[in-house]
Amino acid sequence: MVDQEFTGRIALVTGGSRGIGRACVEMLAQHGASVAVNYRADIDAARDAVRAVTTAGQRAIAVQADVADEHQVQAMIETVEREFGAVDLLVNNAGVFHFLDHEATDLEIWNQTMACNLTGVFNVTWAVKQKMIERRFGRIVNMSSISALRARANAIAYATSKAGLTGFTKSVAEALAGNNIRVNAIAPGLIDTDILNGVKQSQLDSLVAATPLGRIGTPEDVADLARFLLSDESRFITGQTLVVSGGRVMLP
Ligand code: NAD
Repeated sequence: MVDQEFTGRIALVTGGSRGIGRACVEMLAQHGASVAVNYRADIDAARDAVRAVTTAGQRAIAVQADVADEHQVQAMIETVEREFGAVDLLVNNAGVFHFLDHEATDLEIWNQTMACNLTGVFNVTWAVKQKMIERRFGRIVNMSSISALRARANAIAYATSKAGLTGFTKSVAEALAGNNIRVNAIAPGLIDTDILNGVKQSQLDSLVAATPLGRIGTPEDVADLARFLLSDESRFITGQTLVVSGGRVMLP
């Protein structure tokens, strides 16, 4: 087999059975990694993602865990380490999104959003980081959002959780840089996945109209950036949040 950039690497993608996570799973396999596909509930979708990887000639397993539950996460990581070995490449992709105004945003929505989008990233990162430190190798990509970078009146909990992820990414990147562990985040704009199911078509149309490149993004648009951040091409980049949004939201 021809060596590819992720040959011999063990990857874990949370929420990897569909959408952006699934595109990251396929990208990692295409570039040679063995991939653990985390899912919360939809085992059929996870098995389908595993089949896509094995068809591409790489190893894959489906591993169940609600990332918000530290015990489930610990058990998941033990399974990945037993089956494949320690995780080299982590994509913290699992996320929940509620498109709600301030009146409809209650404590339950707030807690559920923080538990998955923020505590979930903490749980999985903390479960893999010790082995990364010991082996002096790790690449972590956190799936943020352009909601982290601008006001979002209709997604207060979500935008706050993703802004928190920016702080987490910077702080952990600084803490672990000396161990050859790089931590970055991706801030996608509007990407065509199931997470948008609760958003009205007219609202999606107006977001596309506000996108300089004039279209909705694909999961592959995001996975291509994840490939770059996980590879040695980004060897001098850590603690950053990179935007992939067709130009909607441009950083100074
Ligand atoms: P999606 O809904 O298709 O995928 C989200 C995945 O996360 C699903 O597989 C879901 O089962 C999983 N998940 C949710 N809660 C979980 C939990 N507690 N434990 C384990 N898995 C859990 O949507 P997507 O667009 O592919 O979202 C992927 C990431 O991209 C999310 O973090 C999302 O916030 C982010 N994002 C998406 C967009 C977009 O427009 N689609 C824009 C910006 C950021």
